Amino acid sequence: LTRRVTVEETDDELSRLAQTFNHMIERLQRAFERQKRFVSDASHELRTPIAVIQGYTDLIGRWGKNDPAVLREAVESVKSETEGMQALVERLLFLARSSDGNMQLRLECFNLRIVLREVADETRFVFGRSVDIRIPGTIMLTADRALVKQMLRALTDNAVKYTPEEGSVSIEACQSPDGVSLTVRDTGIGIPPEDLPHVFDRFYRVDKARSRAQGGSGLGLAIVHGIVEAHHGTIKMASVPGHGTSVHIVFPQ
Ligand code: ADP
Repeated sequence: LTRRVTVEETDDELSRLAQTFNHMIERLQRAFERQKRFVSDASHELRTPIAVIQGYTDLIGRWGKNDPAVLREAVESVKSETEGMQALVERLLFLARSSDGNMQLRLECFNLRIVLREVADETRFVFGRSVDIRIPGTIMLTADRALVKQMLRALTDNAVKYTPEEGSVSIEACQSPDGVSLTVRDTGIGIPPEDLPHVFDRFYRVDKARSRAQGGSGLGLAIVHGIVEAHHGTIKMASVPGHGTSVHIVFPQ
């Protein structure tokens, strides 16, 4: 009798051990899949700056020799895009390594209007679409300038991607009692209510086929969320399918 009990106990222990190993392997497999996905999605994020650089180098090839002003402007833009891309790669690596809320900020005080203009100009250049800028007077924001621009570009890129040509996209900024508030609004396809709580998750895409066709990676909003969180800000998304989406961000100042 004693022996049988011992054997049963051993069997039990073995099966528990096997179960633990199975769980560990499953978790490792999931982590490995996430890692693989992350690398390919990060590559997608780099497409926009590469497209801008391609555009400007074409411009240099076509007009640069004849027009020194075009050459100067194009070279400057390529330089700033390259810097932006470098910053983006660093941020992506940072996001990959750091857990949320662990991002390091390079804080500076800057004129928000200039950043909004840059984002609108780049959107016109890359997508051929205009963005309506609404900002009353001068608003100075103390934040990480490169990250704020990266955030606005991700939101504007989404707004343009998910809004038909005849629709509109705007960025509004204002000084509110809580800080500086920014709203990116579009009149696009919108997001179904059941998907809305998940859109900030890494790699989440509402319509995978459409998102991929648009060059989407499902990483943009996860990065946006991380940037807002690192600034101790708040972000809210509201959407009505078929009518449009608005993303409202407040940076405490
Ligand atoms: P993606 O790179 O695929 O656009 P994001 O993380 O930026 O990924 O967004 C996640 C998903 O949320 C998108 O795939 C898209 O389905 C949805 N989405 C984001 N912004 C908008 C928007 N302005 N209008 C409609 N859907 C949006």
